[in-house]
Order: sequence, then C-alpha cells, then structure tokens
Amino acid sequence: MTAFSAVDVIAAKRDGGVLSDEMITWMLDAYGRNEVAEEQMSALLMAIFFRGLNDHELDTWTARMITSGERLDLRGLSRPTVDKHSTGGVGDKISLILAPLVAACGAAVPQLSGRGLGHTGGTLDKLESIPGWRATLSNEEIVEQLETVGAVICAAGAGLAPIDRRLYSLRDVTGTVEAIPLISSSIMSKKIAEGTSALVLDVKFGNGAFISEPDRARLLARTMVRLGEAHGVTTVAKLTSMSAPLGRAIGNALEVTESVEVLRGGGPSDVRTLTLELAVIMLELVGLDADPATALDDGTAYEVYRRMITAQGGDPDAAMPIASLIEEVPAPRSGFVQSIDARSVGVAAWRLGAGRARKEDPVSATAGVMCLVREGDRVEAGQSLFALHADDDAHLDLGREAITNAVVIGDEPPSLDDPQLDLVRA
Ligand code: URA
Repeated sequence: MTAFSAVDVIAAKRDGGVLSDEMITWMLDAYGRNEVAEEQMSALLMAIFFRGLNDHELDTWTARMITSGERLDLRGLSRPTVDKHSTGGVGDKISLILAPLVAACGAAVPQLSGRGLGHTGGTLDKLESIPGWRATLSNEEIVEQLETVGAVICAAGAGLAPIDRRLYSLRDVTGTVEAIPLISSSIMSKKIAEGTSALVLDVKFGNGAFISEPDRARLLARTMVRLGEAHGVTTVAKLTSMSAPLGRAIGNALEVTESVEVLRGGGPSDVRTLTLELAVIMLELVGLDADPATALDDGTAYEVYRRMITAQGGDPDAAMPIASLIEEVPAPRSGFVQSIDARSVGVAAWRLGAGRARKEDPVSATAGVMCLVREGDRVEAGQSLFALHADDDAHLDLGREAITNAVVIGDEPPSLDDPQLDLVRA
C-alpha cells in the first residue's frame, strides 16, 4: 500500500480537503502500528473536529476501525439479533430491562457494553453490583448464552474495534470528544463489530445528556443510522429528552433494584414507557410479533433476566448491597416541583461515588441518589427531595454540595410537556 506522510494527511484535512480512502486507511493502520505519533493523530482529530468528514470519508474511517479488530459472526443463531445503544443519560438503566425483555419476545440481544465515565453511569458498573456477576465472557460464551438465554450484557472484548480505545482516550485529553463523525464512528464501529443484524439507538438530548441541543442530537442520530445501514445493520434512532433523571434511582445497585421492579411489572412509569417503546421498535425491526407489555406483566421477562444474571455467575436472589450512610435532602420551601436538573443529580451521584472521573477509577456499588419527588409534585417545606447514599462522609459532603440547586420549586404547577421528537429511519 502507498505510504503517505502523516503531515500531508493532517494538512489536507486542516485545509478543508477530502481525504482519499487510501489516506484514511493508511493513517489508521499506521497509527495502529505506532508509526503515526499520538500528537499527529491528535492533530488529525482536531482537524476533523473543525472540518468534519463527508459521508464517504466517514464510511471508510468507520470500516477501517471495524477491520482493526474482529467482527463477531452471529448468523448461526436460531433467533434474529437486535441490539440497542443509548448515548447515555442520568438514571438510564433501560438496557438492564430491555435486553431480557426483547429476548423473552423471541430475539437474541447481544449487548456488548462499556463502563461509565463522568456523570452518566455504565451498564457494566450497574450489573457488577450484583454479587458474583462477571462482565467478561469469551466469544464462545457470548454465542452460547445468546442461543440458550437470548440475552447477554457483557464487556466488549479488547478485540472489537481496538483502535477505538486508543482514539477515544486521545479524544478525551484533546478536546475532540464532541465531534459528530468521531462519536458516530466510535459507537457504530463497536456495534457493527459485535455482529447484530439490527440496532435501535436511543439518542439523548438535554442537559443530562452528552449532547444538549436537539438539532445536534438529530444530526448524530442521522449520521449513525446512515452508517449502520451502509454496513448492513438495519438501524433506527429514537431521540429522547434527558432533562430530568430517568426513573427515581441513580447509582449502580440502586438502578439494578429499580430495573427488577420494572421487570416484575412495576417501577416508575417513565422507565417502563421508554423500555416498551424501544422494545416495540426492536421487535418490529426483526419481524417479531410479540407484546412486550405482556412479557413484563406476566413474569416472562423477569425469568429471562434471572437466567441472564445466573449464566454470568450472578445471584439474582442475593440482597443488593446498601450504603452505610443515607441522608435526606429537605425542600427549602413549599410549592410545586418545576424541574429536577438531570445533570446536577448525575454529578451528585458521581461525586457520591457511583461514577468515575478516570477510566481506571473504582466505582462504589452502593452510592447514588434516590429521587423522592418527581416534576409536578406538590411538596411542603422540609419534605425530603432526595436520599443521598454514600460509603463515607467525604463522598457524602461532595454529593450534598452538587445537588444543592438541582430542584426548582415554584408556586404554580408546571406544564410538563416532554419534547417528543420523531424516529430517525434510513
Ligand atoms: N460513546 C462511545 O463509545 N464513543 C463516543 O465517542 C461517545 C460515546
């Protein structure tokens, strides 16, 4: 293959040019072989941040990220495969419920996930609060569990789109995380490599999400849907608001407990509603005609959840760990809850110990926030708004400080129109 000069590739993008397939392939491969220096890749990422990638460049970039590693082949399964990815929100525990639910309806759900960073939690961190549960499975174990149980949630192995790990770490320290071509190629390279035939994307916007403006979230959704389809994965995106936390529980073990409530037919209505909406789309994508609401209410989804946890060494009957310190936060005045700021609640849970600042940090299984009121509720002065869960006083102090102004209380009931945006399809 032609060898390029990294400087020429960087300069071409810096000046607004279009990179050829050969340039992109060479640059990513040479970076993988450590022949392109970290500072050179950083410069290219920054040039892409400002200049973007056109559709063709993005397809080539993503394809090369996929072929930098292995691609799981799930075509031999007896059930159709469909997965879901969320761009991350506060209290977003939907995957824990959705994977066994959609499996209970006849599909196979290969949910290869990551850990949380910053104020949004990671699915693996949540499940690791279950005694005995293990996140790491071999490819053979993944395929076996998909065939026998129908759902697997586990760590994406080091072999899937390995170049993304390096690029993501570099983006994290170079101010280039937020570029839409880089986000979409990062997410979609891993999802395409995991081998699913269909995918639903839950793209969050609002102040608790990674992208706050709906228009940018829509552009991200369109870009990912196009990329999925270009690589043979039937892809649909749903745009959902993340201005208030999803459900009441934010924190690892707390969210598992709330997920189990929903799996047993109860739980907060917003969590149940979004789970069912996503399940309906997933089942439609793979042509299965089953009613997910029935599977939640009659216990079949919960049964699949139990088998999914047991298959990975977890004990679904074990008592969930509880924090040693629990402190309630009182309402400063009476009135109606106008808003609950998702970002502040997410940051509070993180500071309490539920999340990590650097990817090597440990997380607490028990720390987090329980929201004791919802938007629109009438509250009296002194009534508890939140319960803060922490393992020690230092974390409790940090969480208390972060949550101070999270709730706005006013005299009149608020209007609670959640902006509903349409689905993005190919
Ligand atoms: N999640 C990813 O996997 N990659 C990104 O770039 C952003 C979120």
